Amino acid sequence: MATFDDDLSELRSRSLLRKLRTFDSPQQPEIEQAGKSLLNFASNDYIGLATEPALREAAKAAIDRYGVGSGASRLICGTLAPHTKLEETLAKFKGTEAALCFSSGYAAAVGALGALCREGDVIILDKLCHASLIDGARLSGATLRVFPHNHLGKLESHLDWARTNHPDGRIVVVTEAVFSMDGDRAPLAEIVEIKNRLGALLLVDEAHAVGVLGRNGRGLADALQLEGEVDIQMGTLSKALGVAGGYIAGSRRLVDLLVNRARSFIYSTSPPPAIAAAANAAIEWMLSDEGERRREQLWKNLAHFADEMPQHFAEGRKIQSAIIPIILGESERALAAAEQLAERGIYVPAIRYPTVPRDAARLRVTISARHTTQQISTLAAALRAI
Ligand SMILES: *Cc1c(COP(=O)(O)O)cnc(C)c1O
Repeated sequence: MATFDDDLSELRSRSLLRKLRTFDSPQQPEIEQAGKSLLNFASNDYIGLATEPALREAAKAAIDRYGVGSGASRLICGTLAPHTKLEETLAKFKGTEAALCFSSGYAAAVGALGALCREGDVIILDKLCHASLIDGARLSGATLRVFPHNHLGKLESHLDWARTNHPDGRIVVVTEAVFSMDGDRAPLAEIVEIKNRLGALLLVDEAHAVGVLGRNGRGLADALQLEGEVDIQMGTLSKALGVAGGYIAGSRRLVDLLVNRARSFIYSTSPPPAIAAAANAAIEWMLSDEGERRREQLWKNLAHFADEMPQHFAEGRKIQSAIIPIILGESERALAAAEQLAERGIYVPAIRYPTVPRDAARLRVTISARHTTQQISTLAAALRAI
């Protein structure tokens, strides 16, 4: 039997060993690790809401009123007023009849796919879908089909196959709005046309699009005026919204079904009321003029980064989100590049297999509305130098 050490050594020898690092500062453009200050280009807090005063105040007020823990799962006595309020605000934000929040985006993905699909059904996923979507699809017991990233022809042929071979099954197409490790967008209008024509449901994970795209950061479906066409809108409250938790937004019937069947929702203590209150404040903040200004600042910062990296954005490559991958190939190369940046006081994570394909290790740069022009120029100069 292999020892734990055998497994760890194998990971180390392939440059795939991961280690935790502890930061002793809030999530902001400059973070502190072991007494050293680093410029943070790693966070998904794209708007800077993780430290926003309005959210802190909402969390504190909820703690004063409701305490810390929520005491039980949602279906027992763990549904507190902040949870219900958050779900109403989310539904309004997303333009849907209803919404349901989960403890994390991961739990939302696993819970929703498991509730909607079972043996005899078919889930068709983009190759680059997040691990939570893959795990949810696998756990559901449905038949899985994967299409190459953003490949509409393959999506269509999988759908044809599913219609023919599983005529009575439920068919769900799954994609991300903005892909978490590549930063590009799904061709949502085309996907909607195909799924409508061939008769399937569509789940879109807006994790990295909410707060960044669409009116007041409502996401990609909103930006393309396709809100009504996405049957299952998934997202997380933990990225640009700066808090924690996941959600599904859609029809009342969808939410009723999830309340009855989503195991990650039913068999888990509900999120702390302070988290729900802070998330509610985050959405209300996004809907304010100040929210819209901060989102515009993010896009100005992204444009500045693109101006500073003309060779990276050559050949018509455009910034599509707050995530900019710099693909280096082998894990060792990505690790070495991240190391060199750290020596210059900049933190950009090296992303390796199995998060990305074996030969596509990369630096994953994320930009925030809170970065200064100077900080972005410093990053660009360092990237050019290495
Ligand atoms: C982060 C992420 C999730 C999971 O959300 P958490 O709230 O962090 O659990 C799901 N999907 C995508 C695309 C993500 O990037």
